[in-house]
Amino acid sequence: MTRVFNFSAGPAALPEPVLQQAAAEMSDWRGSGMSVMEMSHRGKEFMSILAETKALLIELLNIPANYKVLFMQGGALGQNAILPMNLLRGRNSADYVHTGEWSKKSIEEAGKYCRVRVAATAEASRFTHVPPQGSWDIDPHAAYVHICSNETIGGVEYHWTPDTGDVPLVADMSSNILSKPVDVSRYGLIYAGAQKNIGPAGLTLVIVREDLLGSALPITPQVFDYQHLAANDSMINTPPTYAIYIAGLVFQWIKDQGGLEGMARLNQAKAGLLYDTLDASGFYTSPVAREDRSRMNVPFRLPDPALDAEFLKGAEARGMVQLKGHRVVGGMRASIYNAVPMAAVQALVAYMKEFEAKHG
Ligand SMILES: *Cc1c(COP(=O)(O)O)cnc(C)c1O
Repeated sequence: MTRVFNFSAGPAALPEPVLQQAAAEMSDWRGSGMSVMEMSHRGKEFMSILAETKALLIELLNIPANYKVLFMQGGALGQNAILPMNLLRGRNSADYVHTGEWSKKSIEEAGKYCRVRVAATAEASRFTHVPPQGSWDIDPHAAYVHICSNETIGGVEYHWTPDTGDVPLVADMSSNILSKPVDVSRYGLIYAGAQKNIGPAGLTLVIVREDLLGSALPITPQVFDYQHLAANDSMINTPPTYAIYIAGLVFQWIKDQGGLEGMARLNQAKAGLLYDTLDASGFYTSPVAREDRSRMNVPFRLPDPALDAEFLKGAEARGMVQLKGHRVVGGMRASIYNAVPMAAVQALVAYMKEFEAKHG
């Protein structure tokens, strides 16, 4: 079996031991005589998988007892609508911080359900920085303040937790959840699509403070009503069972790597190596403000876009795939999520130096 070094932004690389365990358990999960895919979601086998997956997540993130963990569907983009439907709580507006492509999508969708105020924007820098807290204009009557904690396309990440006072802080953590310790108690709600740092596409994770539940708009679809989901342990209808199972294996793998502290150390080392290489080079450039650079998604440019195709071709020949940047930013992007090993970044850096020596 040959595995590539996969720098995909999502769906993204999964830890190899997780894939191997899933393969070993594929047709007979632990003596049940069934694949997890074939199990009744209300049977004792799957109920135990769900309970263990949830317990592991609570342990990893140290989620306080007054928070609910929900396993949903519809992706992070689904949450852009589901959020205001559930969290307006009689208020008519919500604040959003605009840091790039994903927060833009959140703003546009929320606007269908409430008045959206942009409390801060990074537009002036063409979304290459996080607006400092001092520039935020938060409406104290806002239902919540929404941020995207890591802009997957722009490669901009919060390395601090905003203080929004009594207004609940809501974060789209799709692309940096579980990459470092997080103080969940600072957030009203955290959501994430699974396909970056958690597991397969099709599962969406929501962590929500209990006191925010119970005032969903009457139009809210039953399966997207947080309160209803919480009361039914995410089992109103069939949850994405196989994706939940794989997420559980990933959580166990993270725990085995030293939990979120271990992940943070590894991610810092990987991102540090890549950014040091960019900074030491007179050839490659990073478009993002130094203090706001993402440890998960690293966009970089070659001096001439005419070299992009050759760079990508050479990378592929060396077993490194999905390095093409998003069309909005151009250039390259290396997504180096939890499951991307240090060896992948070392191989990339070696190739970048080789390419620079040839073309620089
Ligand atoms: C990938 C991504 C999304 C979109 O997630 P879907 O699950 O495809 O809806 C939203 N926000 C961020 C920050 C992302 O990285």
